[in-house]
Amino acid sequence: MGKLWKKTCAICGNDFKVYGSSYAQKYCNTCRDKYFKFLDEWAKAGYPIKTHCVICGAPLPKRTRGAGLKKASCDGECYKLLTTLYQQNARIKREDLIVMPRRPKKEPVKRRKPGQMSRLGELEAAARAAGMSYGEYIATQLRGMKQ
Ligand SMILES: [Zn+2]
Ligand SMILES: [Zn+2]
Repeated sequence: MGKLWKKTCAICGNDFKVYGSSYAQKYCNTCRDKYFKFLDEWAKAGYPIKTHCVICGAPLPKRTRGAGLKKASCDGECYKLLTTLYQQNARIKREDLIVMPRRPKKEPVKRRKPGQMSRLGELEAAARAAGMSYGEYIATQLRGMKQ
């Protein structure tokens, strides 16, 4: 955690607080969440070129509507901010995937030769043959051993 810092959001201008470990963060959590949502929706739409900067709202001159994130931001500070937001969003997404894998790992299947029964299987079969439950059968066996 570390020290609590008071900073001014580079996007909305509001004051916000960050802990030492997040000191480099330039924007508040409200803006972060807002832009994460924008980035997700923008990605889903196939990154269409924006006419206005999504950070400061300035119209984007046609000639500078470049590739990548510059399709939605001015050059310079806005582009840097959008890049940071994009990278942070992508990193969180990857962490989500690590924490919650979509496909659980398959347990390796122990191979057994056909017809071969495990010790447990043998006991269960013997118990069934004697008309007892596995537990009852084991108890009888143990009693038998004591005698
Ligand atoms: Zn903000
Ligand atoms: Zn801008």
